Amino acid sequence: MSAGSYGSPAILLRSGVGPADQLIALGIGVVADLPVGRRLLDHPYFHTAHALAPGHLEMTPAVGAILWAASGEAAPGELDLNITATHLIPPSYSPTGGVIALSASVVLPESTGTVKLASRDPGVAPLIDCNFLATGRDARRMLEGVKLARDFARSPDLASLIADELTPGDAVADDSALAAFIAGNLATYYHPSSTAHGRAGRPAGRRGRGRRRQGDQRTAGRRCLDHPRHPVHGPQPHRHDAGRTRLPARLPGLRRL
Ligand SMILES: Cc1cc2nc3c(=O)[nH]c(=O)nc-3n(C[C@H](O)[C@H](O)[C@H](O)COP(=O)(O)OP(=O)(O)OC[C@H]3O[C@@H](n4cnc5c(N)ncnc54)[C@H](O)[C@@H]3O)c2cc1C
Repeated sequence: MSAGSYGSPAILLRSGVGPADQLIALGIGVVADLPVGRRLLDHPYFHTAHALAPGHLEMTPAVGAILWAASGEAAPGELDLNITATHLIPPSYSPTGGVIALSASVVLPESTGTVKLASRDPGVAPLIDCNFLATGRDARRMLEGVKLARDFARSPDLASLIADELTPGDAVADDSALAAFIAGNLATYYHPSSTAHGRAGRPAGRRGRGRRRQGDQRTAGRRCLDHPRHPVHGPQPHRHDAGRTRLPARLPGLRRL
């Protein structure tokens, strides 16, 4: 099975593999009482958007870059903040006709969310709660990342390229106002993972199996190959989820080709 971090747990849950209380509440027979969907990990993402100055509207030659940085609360050796320079905000939002987003993310978050079934009906989407910034440390690190992104935009090096800050905007000045603005305007970095787990955050079937089989969700004869199967533990760089997720999502399937 490889239906992604929302689809795979939904299929498992509808098949009776998941938290017994949730399954019983929906009238689904319990095949295995496992914490499927109880450990959604994703990266919170906040876009600071800046109007590009006339004469620099094309973001050329470079249109993308990523900074990896350690927050003031990072563990030794960790790079827990990303600042990405992207074109994700439509240029029509800018009075100059050009926008650059300097977007901040906590890529080693503590907060985890959930994926639950809303209905037994496979046509009904599951309920996704990212639960971003649920810990004070995550919220503080996000604030730090956003302030760093704003500082870049206001640096002398970018002064000739950036006309104005569009979001959050200069009116959002002190830390408490900025923290509230961030909390109300968070996006996802689109890196959901780790939703198809067995007990204690470890994929079912791990114990007693060879390394190649670590992470398989073999409960009831199923094998879960994609991103939901990844474990959530261990320091960087061993954490699969500390940044890009596409390659870790593909590796298990490639190994089986
Ligand atoms: C906009 C965006 C930008 C991204 N950028 C990056 C990036 O730059 N770098 C990076 O590393 N990662 C990036 N990612 C994340 C990366 O794409 C994902 O981590 C990765 O695709 C996850 O792979 P997956 O196989 O677990 O799930 P998916 O790629 O989501 O595949 C799941 C598949 O299952 C199918 N499916 C679901 N339910 C069912 C069902 N019931 N029956 C049949 N089929 C079903 C879906 O249609 C889908 O094709 C980005 C994601 C998004 C959305």
